[in-house]
Parts: sequence; C-alpha cells; structure tokens
Amino acid sequence: MNAASSTVAGRRARPVAHDPRAPGLSLRDAFLIFTRQLSARIIAGMLAVALVVRLAVGGLRGWDLVVLVALLLAHPFVEWVIHVGVLHWRPRRLGRRVVDTELAREHRAHHRSPHDPRHWFIPMRGGLLGFWLVAGLLGLVAPTFALWLTFLVGASALALAYEWTHYLCHTSYRPRGRVYKRLWKHHRLHHFKNEHYWMGVTMHMGDRVLHTNPDPRNVETSPTCRNLLGRNLLGQADPA
Ligand SMILES: [Zn+2]
Ligand SMILES: [Zn+2]
Repeated sequence: MNAASSTVAGRRARPVAHDPRAPGLSLRDAFLIFTRQLSARIIAGMLAVALVVRLAVGGLRGWDLVVLVALLLAHPFVEWVIHVGVLHWRPRRLGRRVVDTELAREHRAHHRSPHDPRHWFIPMRGGLLGFWLVAGLLGLVAPTFALWLTFLVGASALALAYEWTHYLCHTSYRPRGRVYKRLWKHHRLHHFKNEHYWMGVTMHMGDRVLHTNPDPRNVETSPTCRNLLGRNLLGQADPA
C-alpha cells in the first residue's frame, strides 16, 4: 500500500511529495522529506544523544544558560566566518599541493546548481570532522564535562536549525511568515544577486555588523554567483 492510497481513520491521507522542488510543496511535506535526509538524521541523533546524556549527568546550573546564550550570540558570526572562510575558500597552492576541501568544493557545486537537492545539505564527512574538531578542542578547556555536554546540545541544535533553514530556502515551499520571508529573500540574494553579500542563513546579525547586508538596489548582480572561482588562482578553470 503506498502513501497515496492509504487511509487514516477512514479519511484518505494526502499523498506525500517526494520532490522538494514540486510546485505547491506544503511545509508538512517539506519537513517529511527533510526527515529522510542523512545529514538531518545524523545531526538530530547527535542532539538527542547529547541531550539525554546531559540530563542524565544532572546538576543544571546558571552556567548552562550562560553557555547556551553565548552560543546563540556567537552563532551569526560563526555562520558568517564558516561561509566566508571555509565554504568560499579558494584553492591555494602550498608547494606542490593544492589546498582545497570537500566543504568548499561542495559549496561551489551548490552555487553552480542551486536547484539541485544533492548540494543542499552539509557534506557529512567534512561537516562532522569540523564539528568534532572544534568540540574536541573545547572539551580540553571546558571547566566541567556537564558544561561541555551543554555546549554539544546547543551546537547540535544550531546545526540542525541551519540545515533545516537552508534546505527550506531552496525548496519550492514559499514563505508566509515575516521571519521566514526575510531568511528566504536573504539567502536567495546570496545565490542570485551577489555571492559576496548576505552570508548568514539562520541569522543576519553577522551580515549587519560586518557590512555584508547592503540594500540590494545598490549592489550589482555578480557574474560569478554561479561560478565562485571563475578562473581560479591557479590559472585553470575550476575543476570542481
Ligand atoms: Zn544555498
Ligand atoms: Zn555561498
């Protein structure tokens, strides 16, 4: 029995869309498709495990709230720095080697084909490596194991919020609420107006403070929105 023919309590269930680009996609269907993505499942799993272990350890204090608020305040700038410094990284020659990363290559592919769902999600190999590298370093300096777990809860929740927001901005679901409409417009300007601006996805404070949130009417449409490198620093067409 497929979803289209199933009934719930005698009522015919609405068919579930499988293509996030399908016209008229509902928020419910967008969410169901999202729950089937590997990255969403991994990040949600990390969040669930961190939350359960943190609650099991117990001893919640004001400092846990301080950690969560600090994460929230830092998040727009962390998102900005990752987007500018990691995702828009240009391959550089270091001796005989060319230094490039999977995250940057995937992001270039995402800019080249912004409507292709294969490039909408954080590449898990590079993403998890980066996440656990930072988490491991913070684990060395965290005052207590409990506070480190609180950090993991907050950071996983923010990563999941990023993944969901970025995915939704690229689906055919059209924004209705004021907040989401703003996020949607902001990210589409980054893709289709000028890739040097509008770097934030879930929050725009980083763009406001770091002067990358101009009035779109004063910004030229960039010819390299789809091809971030153009001809790269190595004098070759971008191979990625
Ligand atoms: Zn995007
Ligand atoms: Zn970008």
